[in-house]
Amino acid sequence: MLYSGNNENLNSEGGVKTITVAYGDGIGPEIMEATLKIIMAAGAKIKIETIEIGESVYKKGISSGIEPSAWDKLRKTRVFLKAPITTPEGGGFKSLNVTVRKTLGLFANVRPCLSYYPFVDTKHPNMDVVIVRENEEDLYGGIEHRQTDEVYQCLKLITRPGSEKVIRYAFEYAKRYNRKKVTCFTKDNIMKMTDGLFHKVFDEIAVEYPDIESEHWIVDIGAAKLADTPENFDVIVMPNLYGDILSDVAAQIAGSVGLAGSANIGSDFAMFEAIHGSAPRRAGQNLANPSGLLLAAVQMLVHIGQGNVAENVHNAWLSTIEEGIHTYDIYDSSISKEKVGTREFTDAVIAHLGKKPEKLKAVTYPPKGDPIIIKLKDRKPSVKKLVGVDVFLDWKGDVDNLGKNLEKIAYPEFQLAMITNRGTKVYPNGVPETFIVDHMRCRFQSAENNNSVTNQQVISLLSRLVSAELPPIKTENLYTFDGQLGFSLGQGQ
Ligand code: NAD
Repeated sequence: MLYSGNNENLNSEGGVKTITVAYGDGIGPEIMEATLKIIMAAGAKIKIETIEIGESVYKKGISSGIEPSAWDKLRKTRVFLKAPITTPEGGGFKSLNVTVRKTLGLFANVRPCLSYYPFVDTKHPNMDVVIVRENEEDLYGGIEHRQTDEVYQCLKLITRPGSEKVIRYAFEYAKRYNRKKVTCFTKDNIMKMTDGLFHKVFDEIAVEYPDIESEHWIVDIGAAKLADTPENFDVIVMPNLYGDILSDVAAQIAGSVGLAGSANIGSDFAMFEAIHGSAPRRAGQNLANPSGLLLAAVQMLVHIGQGNVAENVHNAWLSTIEEGIHTYDIYDSSISKEKVGTREFTDAVIAHLGKKPEKLKAVTYPPKGDPIIIKLKDRKPSVKKLVGVDVFLDWKGDVDNLGKNLEKIAYPEFQLAMITNRGTKVYPNGVPETFIVDHMRCRFQSAENNNSVTNQQVISLLSRLVSAELPPIKTENLYTFDGQLGFSLGQGQ
């Protein structure tokens, strides 16, 4: 299977690429206008098709926030420059960003976070970090359930291909942009199977890139180090939730979330956006800083093979920042020369086209950059064997009574291995101090340890439970894969 930040198959006429643009809500239209004005002045060869997204679409009762017809336009252009939108308050609305990322298979979210010291105030003058966030899975599947009166659940899914795509992308990105180190953050000391897989895939892929240093940190201490000494990091790859949180932290400590752009890269599609929101209180006042979206557009220009235009725009922007021409959000009377509005800032960047920064580091991009191609390794599927079932019961009361009852129900194919409550063993040999809620996970394994059981035997067990007025609220089959346990043990098991 091939995955690419693809610029080959984009529709083009005489080198002109058609892109899809959404103006969004709040400050969106102003910063989009500014961005397009600058890149067109720099000579971007693009044709624009617009789609409507966000508040106005939600208000029509479309819970995804995007018109169904917009997908056809996106499918045609495969490049999407998107302004921020306002997510309506209250339930019933799906996050448009998550929908677009997942529907279009945008597996890597790339967020460069660098400081522009001394022109933008920061405690970290030498920060230059690129966060590569997994973008499609983890806790973002939106698979949530209320299972009992007291318990709610959100499913965390980490897949081997999903991990491999984003981790390979991080290493390929490091190689392409001459970066020296890729760091991985996970919490695999706790989530040994899910985060453990991400870490394992990272280690497997790292050895294929001997020229790039690799390291892994548990996310809590890693995050602390990132906030304290970001200059020690280069490219950081992580699962979705940690990446969501830490890329905002990284952008903010670099100077301002208002300055960071991001690229969402998929096999055939890519979406580019600022990382900030629609800032509704600043809308329509010629105040907003268009830099985040402009830098996202720079990433887009590189992606569509117009690296020379990207370089011109980026260097003009750096020169403008260096000259102290700043919007209100980064204006500081001790550093800045002029406080300007969105339109004036736009005109200043245009006036700097063709110039290179003198103090900040000028950027260079390959004029026609080839796409980054990600090839997944072929794997032999493992041999899977059913060895038991975890049955979740909505139940509160005397755990020893429940355990003894379940031991009888399990007989003869199964044995009750344990009962846990929120992951902690409460039977056999529970302790009175453990706090208990109405959610019992009862583990039934084959009567002969780790021998296989049949699906029919599982169904018969479930039916015996229903007859005993212990209806399961959820079951989770227990498998081994090539003889390795495919499930975690309970705490205290
Ligand atoms: P926000 O990013 O819109 O604003 C946070 C703060 O930063 C505000 O003080 C704002 O004035 C300032 N700010 C942000 N961008 C700025 C810019 N370009 N120039 C100057 N100042 C800027 O976050 P929020 O207030 O939490 O969210 C507002 C709305 O945006 C919500 O409806 C939220 O759901 C939505 N949102 C959308 C996206 C997106 O579309 N990608 C991302 C985040 C939030």
